[in-house]
Amino acid sequence: MSCTLCQDKSYSLRAEVGSVRYLECEVCHLVYQNPMPDASSAGNLYQKKGYFVDPKKGTDYIGGEQWLRKTAKFFIRLIKKYWPGDFKEAKVLDFGCATGVFLDEIRKQGAIVQGIELSRWASAYAQSRFGLEILGQDIFELDLPKNHFDLITMIHSVEHLPDPVRVVERLVESLKPGGLLVIATPDVSSMGERFFGSRWQYYVPHDHLALFDKSSVTRLLKKVNLTLSGIEPYLWRRWGTLEALILFGIKWARAVVQGSSFPRGTPKDGLVVFSRKPGEMS
Ligand SMILES: [Zn+2]
Repeated sequence: MSCTLCQDKSYSLRAEVGSVRYLECEVCHLVYQNPMPDASSAGNLYQKKGYFVDPKKGTDYIGGEQWLRKTAKFFIRLIKKYWPGDFKEAKVLDFGCATGVFLDEIRKQGAIVQGIELSRWASAYAQSRFGLEILGQDIFELDLPKNHFDLITMIHSVEHLPDPVRVVERLVESLKPGGLLVIATPDVSSMGERFFGSRWQYYVPHDHLALFDKSSVTRLLKKVNLTLSGIEPYLWRRWGTLEALILFGIKWARAVVQGSSFPRGTPKDGLVVFSRKPGEMS
């Protein structure tokens, strides 16, 4: 198989989780799952409610709404650094919007919001709970308007795609000239990954298929003719590393006491990447 980002066939083994290997492209350093599921089966995982609400995994998109709102507000504050003025009348598309909390928050600031979400369960929840407009599940089946959106966000969705280039290309077509694309994704060159190796919490077989770092995400943006505006590391911020190690130590000690399985890492390694489509915003 070849790298989905640069098509080169050379690779080295970066991580191994069960029978799944994560390979690192020797040219562009994208880390991708092997074997890679095809686009149709890649979506199966997200169809059931259990992906979004699972007490065993500590995931709860319903009961955890307040936490999701905090996270959404954090991203909105960060986006404002790269955003002229307010969000009034701004046309916003969130690709991989899950249950729609981010869209609900940015709508409060006057944005006109729409979402695309692969999960039929999460789409239905976003529609019934927040009255959001979900355009559909499969971006390649949608007739997206060209040069339409002022802001497109991909908040922890790009790593779930077997072919991120194709999807981002499609999104860029529907972005206005001068419009902003925001990608938040785990950083595969982060301290957390270096420390935890194959135990890094973002190596999640069949779920996380393509893992980027600053250089590979920059290459992705160049490939789709976007101009990089800035990259903000988040979660591993100042004190973040120390805090994460302390939290991890607590989790580890608890696992020893309770005799449960060894915990994976802590959620502390992200990149938020801001890029623009060339041209003047109308
Ligand atoms: Zn590559």
